[in-house]
Amino acid sequence: MLNGEVGFSLEIGEGSMLRFFCPTARAEFDSGIILDQETYRRNRLTIVAVMCAHCQREHRYLLADASVVAEDVAA
Ligand SMILES: [Zn+2]
Repeated sequence: MLNGEVGFSLEIGEGSMLRFFCPTARAEFDSGIILDQETYRRNRLTIVAVMCAHCQREHRYLLADASVVAEDVAA
């Protein structure tokens, strides 16, 4: 059982940008986290701390809470 903050290495390359919903601003923002599908699924219950673009504060989410933006980030 994962509890608290878990660090894991991010592979930069092919993948999708994860977006999260800020409860304060009630808007989504780019987390800057890029994961491939397999890594995303394997780590769905991982808690990540991300800096919110809206309120300049850190929020914590499960990866499962992210909405995945399917875009070619390498382009
Ligand atoms: Zn926020």
